[in-house]
Amino acid sequence: MNYLPIFVDLKNRPVLVVGGGHVAVRKIDALLKAGANVKVVATALHKSLQRLVEAEQVEWLAKQFDAEQVKHAYLVIAATDDNALNQLVFETAESQQRLVNVVDDQPRCSYIFPSIIDRSPVQIAISSGGAAPVLIRLLREKLEALIPQNLGEMAEIATRWRHAVKAKFPQLTQRRRFWEKLFTHQAFQRLTENHQTVQAEALLNVELQRDNPVLGEVALVGAGPGDAGLLTLKGLQSIQQADVVLYDALVSDAILELIRRDADKVFVGKRAGKHSVKQEDTNQLLVKYAKQGKRVVRLKGGDPFVFGRGGEELEILKSENIPFSVVPGITAALGATAYAGIPLTHRDHAQTAMFITGHLKPDGNKLKWETLAQGNQTLVVYMGMIKAAELAIELQKYGKPAETPVAIISNGTLPTQQVQTGILSELASLAENAPTPALIVIGEVVKLQKDLAWFGKEAVQFVSTQETLWKPESLLKKAA
Ligand code: SAH
Repeated sequence: MNYLPIFVDLKNRPVLVVGGGHVAVRKIDALLKAGANVKVVATALHKSLQRLVEAEQVEWLAKQFDAEQVKHAYLVIAATDDNALNQLVFETAESQQRLVNVVDDQPRCSYIFPSIIDRSPVQIAISSGGAAPVLIRLLREKLEALIPQNLGEMAEIATRWRHAVKAKFPQLTQRRRFWEKLFTHQAFQRLTENHQTVQAEALLNVELQRDNPVLGEVALVGAGPGDAGLLTLKGLQSIQQADVVLYDALVSDAILELIRRDADKVFVGKRAGKHSVKQEDTNQLLVKYAKQGKRVVRLKGGDPFVFGRGGEELEILKSENIPFSVVPGITAALGATAYAGIPLTHRDHAQTAMFITGHLKPDGNKLKWETLAQGNQTLVVYMGMIKAAELAIELQKYGKPAETPVAIISNGTLPTQQVQTGILSELASLAENAPTPALIVIGEVVKLQKDLAWFGKEAVQFVSTQETLWKPESLLKKAA
């Protein structure tokens, strides 16, 4: 270990900053946030430092640096562009055993500033000891995105309730379980995210009053169309906290990999070769697990509210008084078309996009064919493969031209993605051999696919054409 990471309480402690330019400003900002008493030694000051001096937030010593100034400093920072002066500050501080940092000059630092993720009172500091600052910046960006914004708020609430919780649960293990359950409780998380602190603390109080705190809940999470990169951050957090995950056939293996290792995974879908689970049984399972106090995730392909029967499952939970939340996902119509290179709308071709299902109940719920057959719009058909022939016939009957471009996107966003294109009158034969799950796209925008394809096999063809073009021989041939 090259450095010992420590957190220093600088409140009202004197810190000497030598230099008054923009580099000093950066450091002073952080020092002021930590409540330090900042003294700046400089002959001239950056504009924003002048303002701080006028506001009496910073003390300005408008003179040359001397050893006397270091004597009263808790920490020293040299932030000048004068190498000799920086060296002098460094040596003086070292000789007086003061911690010193010459900015961006690691050999002349007895301490370094880490990268910080600030969710005060929770703080995360990372450093590579100067070895790979870019790597650390990238890591910090990743952590920033992963660490919930409400962490600080949760920690503050915990501080206020620490004694009450200790009184109720004298044993450490009980206490730990209580906090663990509370911090991962979706309703509690939602309230703290929305800064509804009063309601969050009321919820904490209710849970604390229970003899045996049971905090079962269900999150309905959209897994997206397949590529694990399309899962939302919130979806990822939910499946990593879940005790049990009930998942559909459409949830890809890459997403299932992300589920917490010791969570129970329960398949409740309908997939060839596996048994099918009835919707009523799934509903009952959700209720059963939640009532056992478990954090349940109901993981669905795409978005749970788009042809996903998500609403029906929530109605059951509502009637059983089980808390629930919904994490949207990227629906197949968005994911598969994006990966196929088919924009759903386009100023020249389609001002409307409609998502419809080909899986209609036998009675009633008839599609409005005259509306669907209109021009300047894109139709995206979910579960449409079996009804492809009927769809093409009806649309043509209501005036959609037989030459309207169509595409079938199979396994959209997955490495096995396949895109077939053709015209409306051929739709049935295109559908015959297409692997499932597949989405039908009907409309002029499909024409753009041949130029905009960027993913999978289509993209490989694109790259290889480019390569041929750029081979010196092909250039020579062209020239000849
Ligand atoms: N809730 C899901 C849709 C469920 S209906 C969503 O929002 O995406 C199931 C239908 O979705 C399938 O029949 C198919 O038409 C479509 N679908 C789902 N995933 C797909 C994928 N990766 N590629 C193509 N179509 C997909």
